[in-house]
Amino acid sequence: CMSSTAMAEWHISRRTWEESDMAEITLKSLAHSYSKNPATAQDYAIREMNHVWHQGGAYALLGPSGCGKSTMLNIISGLLEPSNGEVLFDGKVVNSLPPEERNIAQVFQFPVIYDTMTVYDNLAFPLRNMKTPEARVHERVMEVADVLELTPQLKRKAKNLNADEKQKVSMGRGLVRDDVSAILFDEPLTVIDPQLKWKLRRKLKEIHHRFRITMVYVTHDQLEASTFADKIAVMYEGQVVQFGTPRELFETPNHTFVGYFIGSPGMNFLDVTVRDGKVFSGEAPLLVDKRVHDGIARATSDNVKLGIRPEFIEVHQKPVEDGMEVKVEHAQDLGTYSIVYASLGGISLKARVEEDQITPVDKAWLRFPSEKIGLYVDDFRVELPHE
Ligand code: ADP
Ligand code: MG
Repeated sequence: CMSSTAMAEWHISRRTWEESDMAEITLKSLAHSYSKNPATAQDYAIREMNHVWHQGGAYALLGPSGCGKSTMLNIISGLLEPSNGEVLFDGKVVNSLPPEERNIAQVFQFPVIYDTMTVYDNLAFPLRNMKTPEARVHERVMEVADVLELTPQLKRKAKNLNADEKQKVSMGRGLVRDDVSAILFDEPLTVIDPQLKWKLRRKLKEIHHRFRITMVYVTHDQLEASTFADKIAVMYEGQVVQFGTPRELFETPNHTFVGYFIGSPGMNFLDVTVRDGKVFSGEAPLLVDKRVHDGIARATSDNVKLGIRPEFIEVHQKPVEDGMEVKVEHAQDLGTYSIVYASLGGISLKARVEEDQITPVDKAWLRFPSEKIGLYVDDFRVELPHE
């Protein structure tokens, strides 16, 4: 854990914080294509989107590989110029500012360090680059080394460090400046061993908590995202499809991708239609309330899905009102709960059964509580009509 003297010193060194330029980062009608003549949506790494990273937040940018996370960070830091739209810091357009003038620190997935320099000189580099007085450089380097437990390595050449240590130096270079508006972390712990990973993530959170500097932490791991961030932006195919707390992402996914990506296992999605006043998924009739029926009936698209999380499906051993009979294919015992894999007229469903409940075999009756159902038209969640 960070020593209290180090924390105090760090605190003092951050006292000019109020005067430094922290910023709210706005992405306005942003789009980016790496191709010279983009024709279709597929040619865009970022598809037109708007987003605001508020000042002082601890954020995660979560999404699968290739969805555009690094592209977005590089646009914010200025390494990449977007093909369309604007990047604003505190309402001022910064598109034409080079990275050095943006006051953004960025930590990459793989260590960016100078092999022939010592650890000390590597950490000092961003400060010396800003013409910081040497006494101040020393102060900051010692503080950051202490936080990251690199003090014993300060005199070593970077090339003699192991992979974990190199990445810690790389992170230190991101943390060393105290004049930055934001720190962007691009999957910084990928190469770090799991035990240390956990420790460093806690450290980052601690640093955020103390100094309230805006941090955007990129990851493709939902657990990593929810342990670090207060709010998570879920990115899919070049767009932020939802920005919310871990709880909001779990309870009310705004997009089918969020439902599928968050949670383990993900949300169940059933293609639904209305025929003769009844709701069907394929050939299987669904027992759902009138509002769900009306919501499906009024949708103008053919792509209508009913979403319900495995945690929210009621599993009964015997017939119940509004219970739908299913065939139990198998159950997976996960210790404190089981996941039941069921088939409803050929439609596969997953339901969670807690350890104090009996896990059904062969047959079960499932009920979908109305308040737990989400309706998705063209993959975006829609409000159910009011009665
Ligand atoms: P992520 O960081 O989420 O894995 P990236 O932002 O790296 O995603 O990539 C988004 C998309 O842009 C991917 O399809 C990727 O192949 C493409 N891409 C990334 N960098 C380049 C580049 N320099 N030139 C061309 N295409 C790129
Ligand atoms: Mg990336």
